[in-house]
Amino acid sequence: MGFCGRIKREKELDYKKLQERMVKDQLIRRGIRDKKVLAAFYKVRREKFVSSELRRQAYEDFPLPIGEGQTISQPYMVALMTQSLELKGHEKVLEIGTGSGYQTAILAELSQEVYSVERIKSLAQKAQRLLKRLGYNNIKIFSGDGTLGWKECSPYDRILVTAGAREVPLSLIEQLKEKGIMVIPIGNLYSQDLKVIKKKKDGIRSVTVEKCVFVPLIGKYGWEESTING
Ligand code: SAM
Repeated sequence: MGFCGRIKREKELDYKKLQERMVKDQLIRRGIRDKKVLAAFYKVRREKFVSSELRRQAYEDFPLPIGEGQTISQPYMVALMTQSLELKGHEKVLEIGTGSGYQTAILAELSQEVYSVERIKSLAQKAQRLLKRLGYNNIKIFSGDGTLGWKECSPYDRILVTAGAREVPLSLIEQLKEKGIMVIPIGNLYSQDLKVIKKKKDGIRSVTVEKCVFVPLIGKYGWEESTING
């Protein structure tokens, strides 16, 4: 097929329809019920966050590569993590692991302001440009080690970690407000438990809501880079 033919087929693909099908078949069917979360998934166009070669797969039921060995998470996982944060709209949210910026956009639709930290500078810059172009003005992105949190702007009502950690970084617990909620995958390099942690006056309560597999959280209070790269 020639170049023109490819462009035509790309145009013919009805992303809105694929998006609606993804919300119904992957999210609602698996128990995502929060109406505001579902509305955000109907609004944010996932195909804008992946490369042109992968655009046709943007609404499939699995993670996709975004470069630098990283991934945009499976839609259901993004939805489950978002729903678990119990956002009402007034919150200040810290996200660790900006990646493509898709989850960041979903959070920005549902909260007051989002602070997002990404370890890989090129991904942070790309996400920042895209989110600005899409018109988001309640997102701040910083490139650095998110296991340290983002202390200058703390405390946060909610914290979401989108990479797999060995244990909950103490710095993140410290930067979470009392009555705040943190969602974080905890486990080994191959499999984790998605934990929902609530910070109470007398300590923290933690429940596991799902099994998951995330790329590793690399940093001072995460995995060492040398462990990952052998
Ligand atoms: N939520 C993202 C999206 O929607 O595209 C996907 C995030 S991806 C599964 C995990 C991201 O965490 C990767 O981009 C990775 O570089 C980043 N990461 C890993 N360790 C980190 C750290 N210590 N601080 C900040 N980001 C980190």
